[in-house]
Amino acid sequence: MKLIEHFIGGKTYSGNSKRKSKVYDPATGEQSAEVKLATAQDVNTAVENALKAFESWSNTPPLQRARVIFKFKELIEKNSDELTKIIVSEHGKVYDDAKGSLIRGLEVVEYACGIPQMLKGEFTENVGSNVDSWSIRQPLGVCAGITPFNFPAMVPMWMFPMAIACGNTFVLKPSEKDPSCSTKLAELFKKAGLPDGVFNVVNGDKEAVDALINNKDIAAMSFVGSTPIAKYIYENCAKNEKRVQALGGAKNHCVVMPDCDLDQAVNGLMGAAYGSAGERCMAQSVAVAVGGIGDKLVKNLAKKVEALKVGPGMDKKSEMGPLVTKEHLEKVKSYVDIGEKEGAKLIVDGRNLKLQGYENGYYIGGCLFDHVTKDMRIYKEEIFGPVLSVVRAKNFNEALKLVNDHEFGNGVSIFTRDGDSGRTFSSKAKIGMVGINIPIPVPMAFHSFGGWKRSLFGDQHMHGPEGVRFYTKLKTITSRWPSGLRSDPEFVMPTMK
Ligand code: NAD
Repeated sequence: MKLIEHFIGGKTYSGNSKRKSKVYDPATGEQSAEVKLATAQDVNTAVENALKAFESWSNTPPLQRARVIFKFKELIEKNSDELTKIIVSEHGKVYDDAKGSLIRGLEVVEYACGIPQMLKGEFTENVGSNVDSWSIRQPLGVCAGITPFNFPAMVPMWMFPMAIACGNTFVLKPSEKDPSCSTKLAELFKKAGLPDGVFNVVNGDKEAVDALINNKDIAAMSFVGSTPIAKYIYENCAKNEKRVQALGGAKNHCVVMPDCDLDQAVNGLMGAAYGSAGERCMAQSVAVAVGGIGDKLVKNLAKKVEALKVGPGMDKKSEMGPLVTKEHLEKVKSYVDIGEKEGAKLIVDGRNLKLQGYENGYYIGGCLFDHVTKDMRIYKEEIFGPVLSVVRAKNFNEALKLVNDHEFGNGVSIFTRDGDSGRTFSSKAKIGMVGINIPIPVPMAFHSFGGWKRSLFGDQHMHGPEGVRFYTKLKTITSRWPSGLRSDPEFVMPTMK
């Protein structure tokens, strides 16, 4: 059985833990590996290595750091097929979707190559007579990242390329459900010339997470995962005096206006609700049908949901792969049961899907509910599976209120041909990422990613300009070089003369 270990100080590290977790191929349900679960001591070893590496990495000129990152970018491109296959084999999503997610991560690496430009700072000549002032951004030290199962390459790549480009060193704790991708990325980064200890990977569960939270040498924590754990990370990192950004769960709405191009809306919704089997934090799980468009929308959606091609991720014909684990499959099915009991109308039921030759894989077909209401659990809670709920709203204002009253605020979109509706909606929605006729409005690497409300605890979004701010601290220097003249002591607050 393949054993997945840690990557610390530039090499494989076994550690002293006896605890292991099983890794499965979701397409077949067969165990593919075991992963070591780090002890606090293993975590502390990783942090010690990162702290040691920080001294010289933070002093390496940004341009030299960028050159290593550029090499890393080339190696990711060269190894993209292998990386994609790793994602498919442990997560289950279909090959092209997995490749797309890798590329969205790669784009952050490309952005990080421009770090010398981003760290230029600001300068003002003569803030006072013969006094100059400038602001610079300096790295924080050792940063850590804890990531979810659903994007084993992309989400870690939202974090560590930016942190490392800024001059920090990094300890990553990926999801124990699909850990192999992170180790492969660490190996490639080393091959690109990254000094040992700058990027470390510890595998583990709560024990490793708590050790990261409690380690005083970690200056900043980036987290992406479910809301309860995001809140736990936010509160406890703050208690331990760390800078923290903790991204949580979501329930993304798609508002379908009566004037929209219905085919566009239906196709957009199909990809956004059922792509990656709904295991995306930007998946659309609620369609809000406004005015009289509901019946037509549901009819058109139902036809396509029934025709969805579900199968193993490596089969080119598959549009949707399995869910990540057996437990998650059971959880998603149980939400469909709940929805029926709550009185929502189940239009398409994917619970009994069976695939010949893959009887033990974690498959479920697409599910579609109509007449879902805001008091139902299937509306309030994140299901994280291929289950789309259609809610009816009388008008634009009622739809907007639904969006704004929901506890989550990650992404939202509106389909309309009316500029006024689109503009008003994007301005008034209390949501971090908004799409107008764009089903999944994930910002590009040179913008920043993040939600509002209980989808993000902290101040800064991830990657892009916000990433640079999160992974650096501001220093402002004020300087005078008096020639000859020695001024008398001043006892009043200096002001511009
Ligand atoms: P999760 O919260 O279960 O796990 C995330 C990480 O936290 C993992 O590394 C895991 O090992 C660790 N963890 C789990 N339980 C813990 C505990 N009790 N104490 C300490 N650490 C713990 O999330 P998941 O199931 O891996 O991922 C799915 C969730 O992530 C969904 O809620 C999804 O919306 C969210 N997500 C959010 C974003 C975003 O940008 N907002 C992006 C991707 C995923």
